Amino acid sequence: MSSRYRETPWCILGGDRRDGHFARAMLDHGYDVRVCCVPDTDDLPAKVRVDDVNRAVKGISVLVCPVTGTDESGVLRHSTAPVSLTEVLSEANGIDALVIGTARQAIRDAAASKGIEIIESMRDDELAILNSIPSAEGALQIAMEHSDFTIHGSRSAVLGLGRTGLTLASALQGLKSVVTAVARRPQDLARARALGHVAVRFSDLKTVLPQFDLVFNTAPAPVLPKELMKMVKKTAVVIDLASPPGGVDFDAARVAGITAILAPGLPGLVAPRTAGEILAQVIPRLVSSTLEPLQ
Ligand code: NAP
Repeated sequence: MSSRYRETPWCILGGDRRDGHFARAMLDHGYDVRVCCVPDTDDLPAKVRVDDVNRAVKGISVLVCPVTGTDESGVLRHSTAPVSLTEVLSEANGIDALVIGTARQAIRDAAASKGIEIIESMRDDELAILNSIPSAEGALQIAMEHSDFTIHGSRSAVLGLGRTGLTLASALQGLKSVVTAVARRPQDLARARALGHVAVRFSDLKTVLPQFDLVFNTAPAPVLPKELMKMVKKTAVVIDLASPPGGVDFDAARVAGITAILAPGLPGLVAPRTAGEILAQVIPRLVSSTLEPLQ
């Protein structure tokens, strides 16, 4: 598909190690990209690396911010220097689109006041499903690093059976863990059974929780509160993949002496090159389908 956004300048502002690879892949695909506050980009041509944020966003048509988004005050969660995205937007001119994982209200308001279209990349199924692969591998890596038993033969639970949960359950099954998938929608429970997992409703989690060696949460809601943390085996490892603040009561885990880890941003940590190439595959399509829907 031809797109005018192949010729107009883009800025990748902030990010983690995946975003340098994203920029490299975009340059390889012929896009006019500059980077600002992105780590591990020293090898990129000097004209591509811009230190000053205002200069970096001047004259661009597309601004791409990290999939990990901003904190409540609008500051990017990942960047080599603190960047207030609300301030950047309030001073921006001529930007057509802001691409970001998910946008908080302050970002929406700032973009709306400048007529900038917001594209939330984490809402896109292609990106979320492709990202679930490095996320699942990262979760397995953390499980191996924090346990003294094999995943093979372990009893594992995956809470939430969306895009990440499904891939993770399948990866655990591939390593011969006995997987229980915990969901609330009947169709998700049916899918779990079809894939050969034990299917359990969230409302029944309490009764099965003591049996698990590994508990992975992917539901972005408080699904493992204090009362349930008490039911988790002392030797278990709990890994929370859901975006901060996650779904696990970490204070309760600490009090109970259970190893519990909040594990955000796994694709950028464990497979930055793959994760960057995924962004370069998906984001241009998102931009052109949003801004040029009839082409
Ligand atoms: P998703 O496809 O929307 O799946 C989320 C799942 O959680 C759904 O099955 C949903 O079930 C369930 N859920 C939501 N609220 C729930 C509640 N109150 N009680 C029980 N279940 C609930 O999302 P995803 O793409 O898999 O991502 C899941 C989370 O992981 C997000 O927070 C995402 O940002 C994060 N993530 C983190 C990493 C990382 O590196 N750590 C990587 C990718 C994604 P229903 O359909 O019943 O609502």
